[in-house]
Amino acid sequence: MKMIEAQNLQIPKAGVKRVLTGMRTTGELHLGHYVGALKEWKRIQDEGRYDCFFLLADVQALTTHAEKPELLAKSVVSVVKDWLSVGLDPNDPNIHFVQQSMVPERYELSGLLMMIAKSAEVFRNPTLKSEIGSDKNPTMGFMAYPVDQVADICMVSPTPPRSGDEVLVPVGEDQIPHLEYSRVLARRFNHDYGDVFVPCSPLVGEVGRLVGTDGKEKMSKSMGNVINLSDSEVVVNDRVMKMFTDPNHKTVNDPGDTENNPVFIYLRAFDPNKDEVAELTEHYQRGGLGDVAVKRILAQRINEMLDPIRERRSQWEGRDLREIVVDGTEAARIVSRPVVEAVREKMHLGYPD
Ligand code: ATP
Ligand code: MG
Repeated sequence: MKMIEAQNLQIPKAGVKRVLTGMRTTGELHLGHYVGALKEWKRIQDEGRYDCFFLLADVQALTTHAEKPELLAKSVVSVVKDWLSVGLDPNDPNIHFVQQSMVPERYELSGLLMMIAKSAEVFRNPTLKSEIGSDKNPTMGFMAYPVDQVADICMVSPTPPRSGDEVLVPVGEDQIPHLEYSRVLARRFNHDYGDVFVPCSPLVGEVGRLVGTDGKEKMSKSMGNVINLSDSEVVVNDRVMKMFTDPNHKTVNDPGDTENNPVFIYLRAFDPNKDEVAELTEHYQRGGLGDVAVKRILAQRINEMLDPIRERRSQWEGRDLREIVVDGTEAARIVSRPVVEAVREKMHLGYPD
C-alpha cells in the first residue's frame, strides 16, 4: 500500500497540454505539408490528449507576399478547406482554427519579446538565411519573423507554468531552428522577469522533409515542384509521370538507385504496402524495371491516399467556414489574454499607482 502511494507521488500532475502550430496562407497545401505536418496533427487530434491551436498564418504570409494581400485572403479559405479535407475537425472542442491576424494579443506579445531578442542570434538562424537567399533587401517583418513566431507559440503558454504543463509544436524539419530559438527566448524571459512561459517541445513527424517532384531538397510552392492535396487524379498522374528519377537509369535493364530517387522516396512515404515497396526497390536496383512502370504504381498509391481527402473536401463544399475561424480565433484569444497580462505585469508595464 505504502509503495503505491510513494509511486503516485512521483507521477507528475496532469498539467495543461496544448498544441500550437500553423501554416502560412500563401496558397494550396501540398504533399510536403501533409507528410511533414498535417498527418501528425491529425494523429494528435485523434489521440485527444491536447487542446490544439492550428494557426492560419496570414501575418507571417505577409513576410514574403505583402504585395499580394488578396491572394492571402483567398488562401485563408483554401487552407481551411485543405485542413478539413485531411480530417481536422473543428467541431471537436479541442480543435481550434485560429486566424493569426485576428489575435491582437499576439502583436503585443511579439512587440515585447522583440525587446529581449538579440539581432545577431536571430539573423544567424539557418532557416531564415536559406529563405532570404539572394534577396539583398528583405523587409524588417521578414527579418523579425523568427521572434514573431515565438510570440505565436508563447501566446498559448499555460501561465503561470506548472509541472506537467506542455506546449507541443508538431512541424517539419525546417522549423527546428525556430523552435530551438523559441525555447531560448522563453527561458530568457523567465530568467530575467520571472516565470511566465512553458518552453515548447518540438515534434517532427516520420518524413521531416519531403523532396520536390524535381528531386530538389524541399517540395515547395515557390519552387513549383509540388503535388497539391486538391489535385485531381489526372493532374496527379501527369505530375508523377514528369517526376525526376535516377539520371543514370537510362535503359530498363540498367540497375537503378532507389535511395535518392524521388519516385522511391515518395513510394516509401505514400505506399502503405511495405512488401510492395521492398519488391519494387529490389527489382529496380537489380535492373529490369522501367521508370514508367514504377511511376504508374506510385501515381495509383498517391491517388488512393488522396481519395478519402477528396471525398471529405466535397462534403464541406458550399458550407460556411467563417464561423469555424471566428470561434477558433476567440478560443486562442481567451488563453492568450492572461499570458499578455502576466508579461505586462512582469515587465512593469501599466499605469503608475
Ligand atoms: P512552401 O515552401 O510550399 O511555400 P511553406 O514552407 O511556406 O511552404 P509553411 O507554412 O512555412 O509552408 O509550413 C507549414 C508546415 O509544413 C511546417 O511545419 C513545415 O515544416 C511543413 N512543410 C512545408 N513543406 C514541407 C516539406 N516539403 N516537407 C516536410 N514538411 C514541410
Ligand atoms: Mg516555410
